[in-house]
Amino acid sequence: MNGPIGPVGRFAPSPTGPLHFGSLVAALGSYLEARARGGLWLVRMEDVDRPRCKPGHADAILRLLEAAGFEWDGPVMVQSTRSARYAEILERLKAMDAVYPCGCTRAELDGAAEGSDGAPVYPGTCRNGLPPGKTARAWRLRMAGSIDFDDLVQGPQHQDLPREVGDCVLLRADGYFAYQLAVVVDDAHQGVDHVVRGADLIHSTARQIYLQRLLGWQTPQYAHLPVAVDADGQKLSKQTHAAPVDARDPWPALRAAAVFLGMPAPECHLAGTDFWQWAHVYWNLAGVPRAMRLPAPDTPPAASV
Ligand code: GLU
Repeated sequence: MNGPIGPVGRFAPSPTGPLHFGSLVAALGSYLEARARGGLWLVRMEDVDRPRCKPGHADAILRLLEAAGFEWDGPVMVQSTRSARYAEILERLKAMDAVYPCGCTRAELDGAAEGSDGAPVYPGTCRNGLPPGKTARAWRLRMAGSIDFDDLVQGPQHQDLPREVGDCVLLRADGYFAYQLAVVVDDAHQGVDHVVRGADLIHSTARQIYLQRLLGWQTPQYAHLPVAVDADGQKLSKQTHAAPVDARDPWPALRAAAVFLGMPAPECHLAGTDFWQWAHVYWNLAGVPRAMRLPAPDTPPAASV
């Protein structure tokens, strides 16, 4: 939207809880890749889902990044301050007839086919106008066609939007803008041309590219990092109560994140600027493994006798 302004990467945490290992991996990978390309690295607080964001988490995340020696460029963008811009873009989409009001409740979508991310594919009830008796609750994006893109870590991707995603919500029934709209608007606004993030978001990428194309904006390159899972194969997340990274000593988690991203095991006490010097030397996007896996322990347990 602002034209190309050089390599720009970003880390965009949602402050719904303290930073855990999975988010640290995204922070580390996006930071090292942005710097390896001689680019800027931005931090954006994705607090657009206000009911899920808790006060204090955004500050705690920033304090942790600071303690860990991440250096971001420019001020932190905060999505909760950006509603006017999202509303403006929604109006533009309305004028293009690319979105439509939807009066369906969540319960009415029970039994809908599942998309590739497990979420229901909207059956299209309100697509051609609100049926009698329904009032507009949300705004949905009309999806058509398919999207192909080449992910720098996960390889070639293809998604049939109507079948695998369906018409997704851009303005929610509770009045908040959806992540899918906010992320596209902000990546374009900030000139982000390189998105490095967890592969749990790869199912969202095709719809984001679709939206970028509708709006005439550039599509960044995408690199989706492997997802960290626990011993039961569950994604490490705030929902699975993943342990927060210790802000007083983030180095063991950073060393483990580096190994998780395919870097050679660092010396066991590597920390501070020594860690960063080492990390900039050994970072290699091409060496990042694709598959989800368990994080290895920072220091292997001593062999039992
Ligand atoms: N805010 C999202 C999250 O924390 C990340 C969005 C993105 O990187 O595109 O899961």
